[in-house]
Amino acid sequence: MKKITAKRSSSPSYSGRCLCGGIEFTFAAEADWPHYCCCDDCQKWSGAPAVAWVDFPQSSFQLSDPQDLLRKFKSSPIAQRAFCSRCGSSLFAIDDDGKNMSVTITTLDRPNLHHPESVSYKSFSPKWFPHKNIVEAKVPE
Ligand SMILES: [Zn+2]
Ligand SMILES: [Zn+2]
Repeated sequence: MKKITAKRSSSPSYSGRCLCGGIEFTFAAEADWPHYCCCDDCQKWSGAPAVAWVDFPQSSFQLSDPQDLLRKFKSSPIAQRAFCSRCGSSLFAIDDDGKNMSVTITTLDRPNLHHPESVSYKSFSPKWFPHKNIVEAKVPE
């Protein structure tokens, strides 16, 4: 029988990349609040009916962007959205207060580790979008 030796690491690590691979990133922290959002900002930004997000502390973020492809757009009074200027991948929402940032779950290498537990702005979603086994999150007005 093969003995399994567990790799010891001090904190979890979640890596991801954009479509073209020019931007790679890692979060070395516990993930928080996996959910998906149907607000009109998320729809216009991504071109998709919903964006699945998971949060990490900004302090855990490590970026590899040797060709300086990451661009940011000020999408709200309190946050920016970041994307790859070459391939267009929708990557991050970054809070201006420096504490948290959200990453699009499907740009992570292992998206199945983050199962959305709730939906926000459900009423904004197209009527044909299938919401299954999901609770509606309370969002600020
Ligand atoms: Zn790219
Ligand atoms: Zn949204």
